[in-house]
Amino acid sequence: MSAADSPFWSPAIRGLHAYVPGEQPQGGGWIKLNTNENPYPPSPLALARMREALDERLRLYPDPQALALRQTIAGLHGLGTDQVFVGNGSDEVLALAFMALLRHGRPVLFPDITYSFYPVYANLYGVAAERIPLTDTFEVRVADYARPNGGIVLPNPNAPTGVALPLADIRALLQANPGSVVVIDEAYVDFGADSAVSLVGEFPNLLVVQTLSKSRSLAGLRVGFALGQAPLIEALMVVKDSFNSYPLDRLAQIGAQAALEDHAHFEQTRQQIIASREWLTGALTQRGFACLPSSANFLFARHP
Ligand SMILES: *Cc1c(COP(=O)(O)O)cnc(C)c1O
Repeated sequence: MSAADSPFWSPAIRGLHAYVPGEQPQGGGWIKLNTNENPYPPSPLALARMREALDERLRLYPDPQALALRQTIAGLHGLGTDQVFVGNGSDEVLALAFMALLRHGRPVLFPDITYSFYPVYANLYGVAAERIPLTDTFEVRVADYARPNGGIVLPNPNAPTGVALPLADIRALLQANPGSVVVIDEAYVDFGADSAVSLVGEFPNLLVVQTLSKSRSLAGLRVGFALGQAPLIEALMVVKDSFNSYPLDRLAQIGAQAALEDHAHFEQTRQQIIASREWLTGALTQRGFACLPSSANFLFARHP
């Protein structure tokens, strides 16, 4: 008898297909590439602020609104605090977005291939999903998304291809879908793609999701955020407060805020990663590999 046959399982969870996270091997001796973590350490300022905060104040709950952190993020992007939502990693933010904004009885569209968590959320919330194939050159063609939908989710740059979508294409997608939310998952945007944040003021149907896990070297802290017009952010708040009022602990709020304030560390480490990526692309190409042009911190390559 498998565990799923247990009479104690809620019927709804029997049909779930959970995401399988990349392996986190215990012990040292590895050069770890499988989950696109940052090889550089987090901001020293972030580590120092978290150490200072590590005291008896942990007996208190954190700020459920994470106001200081949201103000910092808003300032960084020229938005209002009511246009910023924070969550326990961008995975949580995406899950809440599926629940709050993408369940309309019409299918959600996302590329085939893309981040494999999207079909998992669709399945969890009972949302039909339609996968739109990439072109022969592994690109997203926005014209292929012109079909009835209850929402669209796209990573930019896409994972695992690393290929970025120009801002003009995202604008076209937003204009063609005024009746549904377009979620742009910018987990890797700091490594070279154009952020859609500049379009937030113009498009009430745009939600941009970012994370501190990749470009800020803080995958272990679990902080992600969403940017969009206030009604979208409010929808996320309603779902969050129906589920967990305190998704970000005290240390995470303080560390994330400091990491976002440490511009020098951020610039230096992301430029180093971009330089290594370009060097590796050249070296692999010289050896006969075909590499897709990557705007991320990973490469999609094959050898004939
Ligand atoms: C890594 C990744 C995420 C999740 O990041 P967390 O903030 O660590 O949850 C989201 N989307 C894509 C495409 C990713 O690669």
